[in-house]
Amino acid sequence: MTRLTPQLPAPLSRLWEWQLHARCRNMNGDLFFPREGEGKGARIRRERVAKQICAACPVRRECHDHAITADEAFGVWGGTSASERRLLTTESDQVASSGPGSRTHLPRGSSAQWARRFRGLSSPNM
Ligand code: SF4
Repeated sequence: MTRLTPQLPAPLSRLWEWQLHARCRNMNGDLFFPREGEGKGARIRRERVAKQICAACPVRRECHDHAITADEAFGVWGGTSASERRLLTTESDQVASSGPGSRTHLPRGSSAQWARRFRGLSSPNM
């Protein structure tokens, strides 16, 4: 007779614990999310400052992975803006949907560009 061992789910706190170590934890969230009526120039400057904070965050990888998994549509997460994440997701969808021998048409120059920009994300020391 086979003995069944119940599989209990992992504690949810483990999924969110990384947020306790977030560099932005006690900062004003306005820096990371768009304001209504925000112009392009203001958005670029705001995102630049937010990304500088993310660059030194000890949980950048976890934050980025969460944003991709949860399909966070707004704000800077893990050092990436919403539009950058959309491009990353689109690229990986295109690669995943291309079968063996098929040609994948990625946005011009994007693969190498993104690989360089997010080189830090693949580093184990993030
Ligand atoms: S990577 Fe950036 S947005 Fe994510 S927790 Fe760290 S500081 Fe906050």
